[in-house]
Amino acid sequence: SSPLIPLNTAAHLRRHKITRKGFQLTILVCGRSGTGKSTFINTLCDTDIATTPEKTTEITVRNRKIELGESDGTIISLSIVDTPGFGEHIDNSGHAETIVKYLESQFDSVLQEETRVRRNPKFEDNRVHVCLYFLSPSPRGLNELDIETIQKLAARVNVIPVVGKADTMTDKELLSIKSSVMENIESHNLPIFTFNYDLDNNYDQTEENDALREMLPFAVVGANTIYQVNDEFFRGRRYPWGFVQVENPMHSDFIALRSVLFGSHIQDLKDSTLDIIYEKYRTEKLSKDPQ
Ligand code: GDP
Repeated sequence: SSPLIPLNTAAHLRRHKITRKGFQLTILVCGRSGTGKSTFINTLCDTDIATTPEKTTEITVRNRKIELGESDGTIISLSIVDTPGFGEHIDNSGHAETIVKYLESQFDSVLQEETRVRRNPKFEDNRVHVCLYFLSPSPRGLNELDIETIQKLAARVNVIPVVGKADTMTDKELLSIKSSVMENIESHNLPIFTFNYDLDNNYDQTEENDALREMLPFAVVGANTIYQVNDEFFRGRRYPWGFVQVENPMHSDFIALRSVLFGSHIQDLKDSTLDIIYEKYRTEKLSKDPQ
């Protein structure tokens, strides 16, 4: 099935009355180490900001304001939150909790700020809008650690499942991985991001959203090298038989994921973080611990 790509970005941005001022978006990447997270982030930002922290259980926040100018004039200032790649440590049990604790502490800061009499003009809202969960590609789909981690994370952040290094699998393998992953997600009722959040209940993008859901998990290729063939420059990976081009929809879902993050769904990701996920946390917290 050929991927249908949501390219109606400009219209979507207008619908949300976004001006040239632009957006701020915070993305958290997590998953087993070696699954292609850092390379993907560098590809996404067209720079070298990411290196996955290893041998540490600390969560490293990379809050460099990288500004991406989109072709429609929008400016996106991006914060990337890196997490230590799990899997290589013997004990992964605390991994999800470490990330959840980080997510909640960002909520707590906002909650505190909201209840201040005098607002801090320099307050930085570091709530995470989306978690890209990098799966280890396996024909069996998700493993128990994935299921447990996604379950915990999804209560505190929009989770989008991703399979990296898509070029290392055949089309057939990829399809089978995708379908096993989605079967697991459905059978365990994992509340991943569904692409149909709309504050006004306007489900006017059904076809686009259905197409995106069909694509899940996004299978991406990352590359640090730019090649030139004739007059064309592209990020890609070179093989004896030719090139894999990151941005070629026949080769990977990179462009689809990029347009979800920076275009079609940026506002939905932010709205659902603030209006649903944060609100739920706030209610839980305040009813448990009345101030
Ligand atoms: P991380 O530990 O999840 O951050 O993974 P890295 O981004 O450091 O990638 C681990 C290794 O996989 C490196 O050798 C990368 O060059 C390689 N790699 C990353 N992305 C891709 C990809 O899309 N395709 C292929 N074939 N290799 C990749």
